[in-house]
Amino acid sequence: MKDIKYIFVTGGVCSSLGKGIASSSIGALMESRGYHISMVKVDPYINTDAGTMSPFQHGEVFVTDDGAETDLDLGNYERFTSLKLSQKSSITTGQVYRDVIDRERRGDYLGKCVQVIPHITDEIKRKIRITVEKSEDGEVLTDIVIIEVGGTVGDIESIPFLEAARQFMIDVGKENVIFVHLTLIPRISSAGEMKTKPTQHSVQKLREIGILPDILLCRIDEKMTNDMRKKIALFTNVSEKAIIDAVDIKHSIYEVPVDFEEKGLSEVILKKLCLPLRRSHLKKWYDLIEVIKNPKDQLNIAVVGKYINLQDAYKSVYEALNHAGFENRVTLNIQKINSENMTSENINERLNSIHGILIPGGFGIRGIEGKVLTAKYARENKIPYFGICLGMHIMVIEYARNILGLTDANSREFDPETDNPVITYLEEQEYIEAMGGTMRLGLYESKTISDTKLYKAYKQEKIRERHRHRLEFNNNYKEAFEKNDLMVSCTTMDEKLVEAVEWKGHPFGIAVQFHPEFLSKPFNAHPIFREFIKASLIHGKKN
Ligand code: GLN
Repeated sequence: MKDIKYIFVTGGVCSSLGKGIASSSIGALMESRGYHISMVKVDPYINTDAGTMSPFQHGEVFVTDDGAETDLDLGNYERFTSLKLSQKSSITTGQVYRDVIDRERRGDYLGKCVQVIPHITDEIKRKIRITVEKSEDGEVLTDIVIIEVGGTVGDIESIPFLEAARQFMIDVGKENVIFVHLTLIPRISSAGEMKTKPTQHSVQKLREIGILPDILLCRIDEKMTNDMRKKIALFTNVSEKAIIDAVDIKHSIYEVPVDFEEKGLSEVILKKLCLPLRRSHLKKWYDLIEVIKNPKDQLNIAVVGKYINLQDAYKSVYEALNHAGFENRVTLNIQKINSENMTSENINERLNSIHGILIPGGFGIRGIEGKVLTAKYARENKIPYFGICLGMHIMVIEYARNILGLTDANSREFDPETDNPVITYLEEQEYIEAMGGTMRLGLYESKTISDTKLYKAYKQEKIRERHRHRLEFNNNYKEAFEKNDLMVSCTTMDEKLVEAVEWKGHPFGIAVQFHPEFLSKPFNAHPIFREFIKASLIHGKKN
């Protein structure tokens, strides 16, 4: 049987150095050399999953096909590689302890004292191992597992995970495990110097727990000098060849894989893992960068939402917009607008130079009225409008109020007592009050309706999209909407639930109950995003 190889990616010095992008890029490089990979994110927090975490604090909740609510890094993994991930690829401290405690209650530990080492670390290792893919007849398909360890080395929470990683080396042999450590080389402006000391210290921290990094990826804002590299090598024991300067990228995160390749990262990794080099196939990445660097036009796209201040809260939405920009050869100037401050007095000033408006998903009443005003503005001024999940609820509420004349129309989420709940709970969901795990989650098949813009975008009837929501379009109002110009353009296969609506006679007004942003790829933009940007381009030319 072949040896499976493991790459652990850790982070030092501080958070937000781009460990997710670095891990994703390593994944892309391994795939480009024909290796079959799997990827795992371990998050040291106690939550069982990201589902109950606020996007204000933790960024977007990414949803997989099987409905796992995960860390947004899994979105990066899927965008950079060919992987389709599942719950197995998202491990948290909460899950590990829950499973160990369940086992303890069942008596599986036969009276032993249950401890961090070996029981918690064994469970972590087991969870990492089950991400290895096998064919139906049991043949191991995965060559390399990439494990990104969340948090910063030195945090209390990550210690059991790092300990499990150290044990991996003993379990499967040093030739099968490498450690890639991402650090920062800050510039001290008053001295005008780059400092390697934080990197040295962070490697020391790793060594204290028995891990010697094989490769250092150093975030730095300009090219590393030879002296600096020599010094880091001397203090950390990492060979000079394996010290890669991850200089800030100019245009796009999608330049990172090629940048790493050109600096020799994949060769170093494969040599250390004792794997054949194989030829690398990175043409599609080079082509993509060419496209990104040479746009033909520029567009102003407004994302009108609630979690606007946090860069990562609508991560997949921004990425999917960019992908559609690449395909249409335009650079997008994405304006993030907080709907809370939107009023009928300031809306024109805020939106009149906008070529397309997107209202993303969300929860809770805050900022809802500003979004309703935004949908009205888009409809009346014939500006392309794209609503996602909550953005669909908004489109329906606005139309009911302003065209059907149901002035109190609302979603039961925002007004449980309304006489016109155009968006409502499914009966069986109405009384569920628990916060976690009550949503319609994951991939479902639905059908688009011919003669709609949505059908034209997909060019097919059957579609499969990921979901994350509780409330639904209220079918009691369907006829009234369709007698006017708000049309249902997609339903579930049994036709019971509405999956999308659109404005007839408007250049582009599509809203969907699902989350198309989760399936968009840099090489293959999602069809609705692609058409939305195309329509925004046409709108931009006219105005
Ligand atoms: N809050 C709405 C619901 O639960 C929309 C959810 C979303 O936008 N993801 O149905």
